[in-house]
Amino acid sequence: MTHTTTTPTILAEVPTGLWIGGRSVDADSGETFAVENPANGEILCRVADAREAESLRALDAAASAQEAWAATTPRERSEILRRAYDMIVARTDEIAELITLEMGKSVAESRGEVAYGADFLRWFSEEAVRITGTFGANPTGPGRIATIRQPVGPCLLITPWNVPLAMATRKVGPALAAGCTVVLKPAAQTPLTSLLFARIMREAGLPDGVLNVVTTTRPETVSVPLMSDPRLRKVSFTGSTPVGRLLLRTAADQVLRTSMELGGNAPFIVCADADLDAAVKGALIAKMRNVGEACIAANRFYVHEDVADEFVDRLVTALSQLQVGDGMEPGTDVGPLIDGTQRAKVAALVDDAVAHGATVALGGTVPDAPGYFYPPTVLQNVSPECRMSSEEIFGPVAPVTTFRDDAEALRLANATEFGLVSYVFTQDFTRALWFSEKLESGMVGLNRGFISNAAAPFGGVKQSGLGREGGAEGIAEYLETKYIAMGPE
Ligand code: NAD
Repeated sequence: MTHTTTTPTILAEVPTGLWIGGRSVDADSGETFAVENPANGEILCRVADAREAESLRALDAAASAQEAWAATTPRERSEILRRAYDMIVARTDEIAELITLEMGKSVAESRGEVAYGADFLRWFSEEAVRITGTFGANPTGPGRIATIRQPVGPCLLITPWNVPLAMATRKVGPALAAGCTVVLKPAAQTPLTSLLFARIMREAGLPDGVLNVVTTTRPETVSVPLMSDPRLRKVSFTGSTPVGRLLLRTAADQVLRTSMELGGNAPFIVCADADLDAAVKGALIAKMRNVGEACIAANRFYVHEDVADEFVDRLVTALSQLQVGDGMEPGTDVGPLIDGTQRAKVAALVDDAVAHGATVALGGTVPDAPGYFYPPTVLQNVSPECRMSSEEIFGPVAPVTTFRDDAEALRLANATEFGLVSYVFTQDFTRALWFSEKLESGMVGLNRGFISNAAAPFGGVKQSGLGREGGAEGIAEYLETKYIAMGPE
């Protein structure tokens, strides 16, 4: 493993205060917290640590800006988003380095995130000008039925650490396009990308107060006061299912609109008739993207017993060629996990699977080196009883179980309270359609491991969430439909 010591200049551009009303301001207490580079544990910088008073000031700014922002023309909002898209794409390499510094994945992967994250700004710049209503006859009498769509109002957007730019733009893009103002609360592990993003939005022409960013080590000091304040009209959250449940309970008090993008436990099914080259390629993407720290990461591999040995051999060969190291170093494929807690959890899940009878085909040991690295790992004969069959691994570990027929694969795949995405590899059209319709998930990757697309509706069923982000559905999460009953009686 190699480690870098150079510090990219983009760090100096990150506003390290709270971003309120278009300015970077200190926390009242002057308190700050450290942001760490997970590749070596070094402190990158310190950012302001907000409490309730500053959180409410961010909502003051968003609430004051709401009426004027909602009154802008869709074209004005569209053009600001499009300018921000162009500015981010023009600075892809630098922003990718910032993502890698705070989150860990390789710069090559972070470039992919910049493209994906920026694309939500482009997509919603296009959606902003297509907010339509309806006008039609009253089927039972005189008058007309009309509907218009209006912005929900000020929103609280809470994002996780694993995809710091795209999780922010996937919410901010549609909220702003719809005419909502926002308070964005990024994860404490990765606040820098969101703070830089806020600054770029201002440079792209966003009026002050429309986008505010509050960083904190105590997230409930933002969520509780804001969600208890009648000026807030919506909360959109991406993160773990337990925190999602907590926020849904809090949201009930003010009957807030909610969007919830929660945890996953994706099955990856390889049928006997699958193209194994495509299945291994898909597995590499679905498992290793983002160091396995993705809600859509393949979490359980179900492989038909006739092709299981060959699939595992090929997967082990492909994964053993990946270079583990500091994401900033050229040639690195697999960066570190986000922190020591996450790595300890991955290691404990692997130990638990082995204690339940799994065999290790690759990896499986924590390296004795600085940083929070964990090697690509393949486990065979993984029991449905072990923890990783029901819990998100969030690391580069592929547990493989065999199945005998389609019905068994489907039963295993659906045996979870999660339902975000499923992957299926088969060359048989009828089987592909059967699995796609029967799998209990909001999304299906059919003969592909890469599903992320700003133009498609992303989201889960069961305890993986409520609502969709991206696609035509994404902007609807930030709009209310108003029905106007038009006379005469
Ligand atoms: P997390 O739930 O611990 O934290 C997510 C965010 O919620 C962070 O900003 C955190 O500070 C905040 N938070 C934590 N407790 C809170 C509270 N009591 N009140 C308000 N905010 C609170 O999740 P994480 O570890 O940052 O991210 C990993 C999880 O996110 C995984 O479960 C993953 O599947 C999920 N995720 C889901 C999607 C999706 O689109 N469905 C995308 C990415 C990640």
